[in-house]
Amino acid sequence: MLFRTNALDDRVRKILVETLYTQPASLAIGAFNGIMTSMVAAYVAERQEVTVTAILLSIVAATRVAMAHILPRMKNLEAERLELFYELGAFAYALALGVLAAQTIAFNVEPVAQLLMACNAIGYAVGIAARNAGRPAIAIGQLLLVVVPLLVVLSIRNELALRVLAISILLLIPAMMSITLNVFRTLRNSVAAAETSARLAEKMQTLARTDVVTGLLNRAGLNHDLVERLGGLRHEQKLALFWMDLDKFKEVNDALGHQVGDRLLAEVASRLRQVAPEDATVARFGGDEFIVACPMNDRSEAEILALTMIDEITRPIRVDEDRLEIASSMGIAILPDDGEDLDTLMQCADLALYRSKVNGRKQISFYDPTMSRNLVRRREIEAELRLALQRDELSIFFQPIIDLETGRVRAFEALVRWFHPEKGELRPDEFIPVAEETGAIITLGNWITSQAAHAAAQWPEDVTIAVNLSPLQIKAPGAALGILKALREAKLAPSRLELEITETVLLDHSQNTDNFINELGEAGVRFALDDFGTGYSSLGYLNKYPFSKIKVDRSFVSGINVGKKSDAIIRAVSEMGSRLGMEIVAEGLETIDQVEAVRMAGCTLGQGYYFSRPVPDYLAAMLLAQERKDYQSQRKVG
Ligand code: C2E
Ligand code: CA
Ligand code: CA
Repeated sequence: MLFRTNALDDRVRKILVETLYTQPASLAIGAFNGIMTSMVAAYVAERQEVTVTAILLSIVAATRVAMAHILPRMKNLEAERLELFYELGAFAYALALGVLAAQTIAFNVEPVAQLLMACNAIGYAVGIAARNAGRPAIAIGQLLLVVVPLLVVLSIRNELALRVLAISILLLIPAMMSITLNVFRTLRNSVAAAETSARLAEKMQTLARTDVVTGLLNRAGLNHDLVERLGGLRHEQKLALFWMDLDKFKEVNDALGHQVGDRLLAEVASRLRQVAPEDATVARFGGDEFIVACPMNDRSEAEILALTMIDEITRPIRVDEDRLEIASSMGIAILPDDGEDLDTLMQCADLALYRSKVNGRKQISFYDPTMSRNLVRRREIEAELRLALQRDELSIFFQPIIDLETGRVRAFEALVRWFHPEKGELRPDEFIPVAEETGAIITLGNWITSQAAHAAAQWPEDVTIAVNLSPLQIKAPGAALGILKALREAKLAPSRLELEITETVLLDHSQNTDNFINELGEAGVRFALDDFGTGYSSLGYLNKYPFSKIKVDRSFVSGINVGKKSDAIIRAVSEMGSRLGMEIVAEGLETIDQVEAVRMAGCTLGQGYYFSRPVPDYLAAMLLAQERKDYQSQRKVG
């Protein structure tokens, strides 16, 4: 099996065949040598047969040198073809040389010519055994073709010295074969070892660039791929980068566990692979973010692909028993329109994604330059927020929460306002998230609670104050103490404070959250579940935590989805609320029709522009005083 080296796998074989061609110079020197000696031998021998063989040998030698130059440059020539060409040339040359040497001895020409050709042939046989050891079948074939004609002639001629020469050449055969095979084995082992380690390195590199959960490229792989792609992009070609972030993935992960989360990611990945064009780069950028990049002709083509991908992700996903619905936000940037290099392109797509998320998720947004300006604004807000408190630019507004039976004010919700000297009034939706990101929310939140408590302390005892809390405020160490301190300082009974929290706070299952709620709950503080219906809307939390109110989100009252379905949901929540002793607040009431509708559906409390916009503290106090007066005069009349 050593002769036919099929046992070696193709790549090792290829490398070995290449060694046949790596030294065209040695081939040329050999050819030159062969032509020169054979011509001289023919000239000295003066025999027609010798001349013919010498000419044939010269033709073969010259052809081989030419072929050695041309063949390796022909790209699509396989190793086997290359090997065959070499084999034929080598055998022809060896045979010609052997026959020529044999002829000089057989015809007993001038002894110098015999010497010249015999030395040449034996020298060639010995040399070739080592040179072509990379392909032992060729090397041994050449060896035999050179020496066999010589052997035949030497053994026929009845001369002792020639017979001895024949024996010594005969002995040379096994000796040279064994050298060939030894060299070959060593060569093969080292080539194979080098190949194995090269392949191992390649495998490690692939692994380092692959995301384990989804099998897609990871961040490193994406980077590598995009750099290569950019290099290969034709002049007029565009590259679209789609950056996706799954909406509320964290909640699924927290509620159903990481294993379910991982399988969901894998399913999203395989769907993206399916709908993305074949030549697209598809990567998981980390967490629940995916990036797809591919060449595009124009924006509308990118838009069609974007919508297809979003639709595909939104289709329900089955994981075991669970039927999950996950949506995604997307930002799109196009090279070279939005940015000429990779970093800029990524930044643009990221900004576009941010816009999608702010716009209420499940959205696609193309990058536009205003986004960069918004980022600048965000940075400014970030920088100025810390100073805003010291400069007295923040204040608290109060919006009444009305008893839908009696029409009386039962509570006020504290809503923060920022009056910026240059930018005008800033909405909390704009600066609260910034405060959360920078951690400024802790100081800001404590200040809000304290201000709200001071205002409420001036109101009649049956009117409570509702304060919104950010998740970060609850998780901060000593959060409960901060709130109790604010109550003490304002001399407000804990039972008159209601903290509005959203479901996201509870999804973390953090011990800090539980401690916070228990500690304050024991002190008498009450809790309301805010924005109900927008998140995961798990009813489990209603049982686990002592909520006294559920605030049904504005979108059920005045949003685009209002209709039979939202009505049914409000009804169901109200019914459950009344059983569990909770009150149901409808938010965002703007018209009398909406007020009537939610009242009929079972809500006990209402809040919204129909009753009042959020107002400063003195107006809230006036509202209460007015109401008292009206109530008393009503009682007198009654
Ligand atoms: P939220 O807790 O859902 O607050 C209710 C929001 O609805 C307020 O917006 C309020 O002005 C608005 N609103 C009330 N009635 C109506 C209505 O009839 N129609 C419409 N279209 N809107 C109405 P605002 O003050 O801009 O606050 C937005 C969000 O910012 C709040 O949503 C809350 O999540 C957050 N936020 C506001 N103040 C604070 C605060 O002091 N601390 C924290 N952590 N978050 C706050
Ligand atoms: Ca609220
Ligand atoms: Ca709300």
